[in-house]
Amino acid sequence: MERGQSPQGRLSFPGNFSALAAQLEELIATDVNGRGTEHLIVPGDLAAAGHSLIGARHVAIVTGFVILRAGAPETDGPPGALILARVLQRIGIEVTIMAERFALPVLQHAALTPWTEGLSVQATPAAAGELAQAGVTHLVAVECVGRAKDGHYYNAAGQLLDAYKPLADTLFLQAAAYGIETVCIGDGGNEIGMGKVYERVRVSVPLGERIGCIVPSDRLIVAGVSNWGAYGLAALLSFAAGLDLPHTAAEEAELVAALGSAGAVDGYSGEVAASVDGRPVSEHQRMVRRMNDLVAPYVDEEQVV
Ligand code: ZN
Ligand code: ZN
Repeated sequence: MERGQSPQGRLSFPGNFSALAAQLEELIATDVNGRGTEHLIVPGDLAAAGHSLIGARHVAIVTGFVILRAGAPETDGPPGALILARVLQRIGIEVTIMAERFALPVLQHAALTPWTEGLSVQATPAAAGELAQAGVTHLVAVECVGRAKDGHYYNAAGQLLDAYKPLADTLFLQAAAYGIETVCIGDGGNEIGMGKVYERVRVSVPLGERIGCIVPSDRLIVAGVSNWGAYGLAALLSFAAGLDLPHTAAEEAELVAALGSAGAVDGYSGEVAASVDGRPVSEHQRMVRRMNDLVAPYVDEEQVV
């Protein structure tokens, strides 16, 4: 199939869909930063998220996590959101990218134009009613802070983020009332969606009781790095829709570099660098290659059948 074309039979699920999903779920959970993420995985939720999204009409994806010392968003989140958005567009689904106010200038930056073409990039609305009015059927969060038990917002170190006035978690709390399905992706326990496994966050994540997000989601994807969770979901959707692999290792380096040009910083160092979550881009490229190597045999097999 040519890139950009809307595929035939997008609701078909090949018999090996679940097997691929299980393998991807394990791969993306590689706990590269020793954060105990393997305790937070919800087995089967990656496949369920794929099933849900492939039937979507309009997906709103929110992303952007503020790094205090830089006052800028980090490089984990936006790449995953943009690759997932591209795949959904290829399937023929309308996509809106949403960002909290501090992250909007980065996502609307000219350096990201090659990745945001055809996408509406806008500020997170204050209420889910606005999403429903726009025809949004599915709401996805990729690495977004959500409120903790005490109603405040925290980073992994337990520092307060309230000053940045996050709005997105409210949308996820309201989504069900509008029939909007939710999928969340996170890697640390303080992100929107982790309310689904709050008890596990409390027990197994450092400062979990304080920083753990209480906002749940219908489907929760936990990864060693949040971008990987979104890439895994994108790969699964591409397979189900009969599309090419979502992105190459070369594109991964280009995307992370473009985010740096747009002002995003590494979440660990707080500096503009060719890295994500303290890991050099080469490591993320290796993950993309491993993912593509994992998916390729499934694609071949499907073509033979
Ligand atoms: Zn995180
Ligand atoms: Zn991260």
